[in-house]
Amino acid sequence: MESASHDLVVIGGGPGGYVAALRAAQLGLNAACVDENALLGGVCLRVGCIPSKALLESSEKYYEAKHDFAAHGIHLPEVQLDLAAMLSRKDNIVQTLCRGIEGLLKRGKIAVYRGRGRFERPDRLVVENDAGTTSLAAKHWLIATGSRPAAIPGVELDGDRIGTSTEALSYAEVPGRLVVIGAGYIGLELGSVWNRLGAKVAVVETLDRILPGLDAQLAAEAKKLLQKQGLEFHLSRRVRRAYRDGDGCVVECDGMEPLSCDRVLLAVGRKANTENLGLETMGVRLDEAGRILVDSTYATNVPGVYAIGDCIGGMMLAHKASEEGVACVEKLVTGYGHVNYEAIPAVVYTHPEIASVGKTEEQLQQSEHPYHKGVFPFRANGRARTLAEIEGLVKILADEKTDRVLGVHILGPRAGDLIAEAAVAMDYGATSEDIARSCHAHPTLAESLKEAALAVAGRAIHV
Ligand code: NAD
Repeated sequence: MESASHDLVVIGGGPGGYVAALRAAQLGLNAACVDENALLGGVCLRVGCIPSKALLESSEKYYEAKHDFAAHGIHLPEVQLDLAAMLSRKDNIVQTLCRGIEGLLKRGKIAVYRGRGRFERPDRLVVENDAGTTSLAAKHWLIATGSRPAAIPGVELDGDRIGTSTEALSYAEVPGRLVVIGAGYIGLELGSVWNRLGAKVAVVETLDRILPGLDAQLAAEAKKLLQKQGLEFHLSRRVRRAYRDGDGCVVECDGMEPLSCDRVLLAVGRKANTENLGLETMGVRLDEAGRILVDSTYATNVPGVYAIGDCIGGMMLAHKASEEGVACVEKLVTGYGHVNYEAIPAVVYTHPEIASVGKTEEQLQQSEHPYHKGVFPFRANGRARTLAEIEGLVKILADEKTDRVLGVHILGPRAGDLIAEAAVAMDYGATSEDIARSCHAHPTLAESLKEAALAVAGRAIHV
């Protein structure tokens, strides 16, 4: 058995782990990264954020060419779909980015151990792959093992017709009918992809609304727009069973007739990857959902062992994991590291996009926090008109007394890019007046943020 020793060994090469390893190397640590996959980058790069965004972009272009170009005075002969080419474009993007991470780690002189890591003792990790085992020792360990799609009883995943987001990123043909279980991020993004490509998509959701956790007004607006695009919603319906039936599938839900379909996409949340790591032998404490318990410095109860990202819970977002990885390593080396959890943006890449940072209106109401609200609709924005993207709005919530921005919620074109301004403003403790008084270029979508900020004080110009 080979062996090696490092200052820091990071277990998991996703956006939490590889970023932490790079930051550790920048700070002078002899860092290593362990991952069982041939491609580094974790779920985000291989079967998550990146491939889904590639397909969202391609499918949107297809949909636009088919339905929206004529309004611009552009007439195309019959628009045809080459799904194989679309999927291979997505795969190429994934390969390029994963190779890029490999290059970054190499440049940072970070050793990469391919294989599954398992703690034998608190001071020893054994990494196993087909070629053999390596025994690693380290002063510090960082667990960044991420998460996987959650399963539910009664839904028999077969890795093909009844699958998760992983399968839904690679259907070899457009399903005639797709049933999506769960109206969350994944359900709506991948449901949108296949709807645009021609599938009849039904989304079944336990709750009486879509996108739990996001601002309810925006979620209700988004639902109407998605319905217009062809998505069929069955809200307040819990899925009890889903099974194969010949060449197709059947989904049984409470209070309605069973749904027959060609494929089922299960998207009901994600589960922390904390099994088979030897955590029990070390005595690392987990919560009842199997997430690793950490303190504000990402330290577990076992000295020298830290954890970040999806495997500790909180928002299951790649950028949140990266921020935690950096903060954890910086704290370890410099004594200071910090994540501002009040200013972590979230984006749903539907059309239009939905983006959010800070408190929702419902959260403020529940905590009886007095606030002022400013809303600006994209239909009153010149740039949105030129893009023919006039649906949606910007909503800014600010403290009633201090005017400090508490939350920003955007449904509309490029909301995912626009939210960056709001996140920076909130990180700096900005007031809505600060945003309102900042000059925004004309004509841009970002002017809608300025107008919403002006609207907080009842003085928007263009409504
Ligand atoms: P989610 O938590 O966003 O949504 C799951 C939905 O499934 C919920 O609305 C829930 O009420 C519903 N549900 C649960 N059990 C059900 C049942 N039996 N029948 C019907 N509905 C049921 O989860 P997701 O969409 O699987 O995404 C997982 C995680 O991945 C999210 O936490 C998200 O943060 C992350 N993600 C982020 C992005 C992004 O940033 N754009 C994209 C995809 C995923």
